[in-house]
Amino acid sequence: MTKNKIHTVVENGFLTNSAIAELLAVAAEGAKMPLQKALRRASRKAILWPEEAAILLAERRSLTELPGVGPHLSRLIREWIEAPPLVPDVPKIRCSFLTLPEARSVLVKKPSWGSRLKGDLQMHTVWSDGSGTIEEMANAAVQRGYEYIAITDHSKGLKIAGGIDENQLRQQETEIANVNAKLKANGNSFRVLRSIELNLDPHGKGDMDDKSLRRLDVVLGCFHSALRRKEDQTARYITALKNPTIQILGHPRGRIYNFRPGLEAQWQRVFDVAAELDKAVEIDSYPDRQDLSLDLVKLAKKAGCRISLGTDSHDPLQLRFIEFGLASALLEEIQPERILNFMPLNDLLSWATSVRQREGRRTRRERD
Ligand SMILES: [Zn+2]
Repeated sequence: MTKNKIHTVVENGFLTNSAIAELLAVAAEGAKMPLQKALRRASRKAILWPEEAAILLAERRSLTELPGVGPHLSRLIREWIEAPPLVPDVPKIRCSFLTLPEARSVLVKKPSWGSRLKGDLQMHTVWSDGSGTIEEMANAAVQRGYEYIAITDHSKGLKIAGGIDENQLRQQETEIANVNAKLKANGNSFRVLRSIELNLDPHGKGDMDDKSLRRLDVVLGCFHSALRRKEDQTARYITALKNPTIQILGHPRGRIYNFRPGLEAQWQRVFDVAAELDKAVEIDSYPDRQDLSLDLVKLAKKAGCRISLGTDSHDPLQLRFIEFGLASALLEEIQPERILNFMPLNDLLSWATSVRQREGRRTRRERD
């Protein structure tokens, strides 16, 4: 198991969900279809089980209450809990993921942390590959007590995720203005921010016209290609951070639980550049991403760079995933002033403006 602050094999004498997730993944490796698929799926879902399976069992409840668990897996997991097997070392592809009960046990110790949260800075809508409208996302965020959200649909280069072009982005701007006007008319000062998940090529270059990006409140840049390269990618990250059109680098590693381990880089150097440019790196809080992972959050803290929290929600219910990002930042003791989402709206917007102005000066200087 990883040597994290959260250690997860057998805690207080019981087998944790984290250990069960690993046992399920290992069992999948030796299983035939369709069981293999069910085991892999349950392993991934175990991250989001709201309660420890062992506690459920102790309360004589059925394990089939847990997402992804049918009668067969329920028997298997019960056997593991009753006689815990040895959990092998977790491979990198599944390493350093918090489960929901772990994240909650971190947050419950410091309730003031979660109450600082003012918004969520990554989510998708029906404009690209999400299933909620902008208004539905905004209403769900208002329900959570937020003051703002950023709508970050995919940009045009990411066709597979329904990326939007400059024209659609302009139409989206009108829809956002209408939603904001409606909220205001109802006496709500909540604000929907215009943003985008700008698709960066492996050289850190975006796929949208600079002029249309300048109209946005904030721009998140992300890699979606060449994510399985084995060699060091430091140069790619540094050029991406130096792309003057972005202020936040989203899901930096590009890892996905039990699917892709993500890229390698000299992270301290990458975060130093982010800090120097006053840009933010994201903790993508989607359960099977959790990217930055805890080890990298620790390095980002050391560099002193800004942190952005985003759920990468694809429907309104997924806004709850923010607990993973909040817990990661708290575990690694990120200073609250460094977290964008803890800022009042006006401070957040002035930060984005000042980054843009500095980038303007820097690129002019480098050109001359
Ligand atoms: Zn993405």
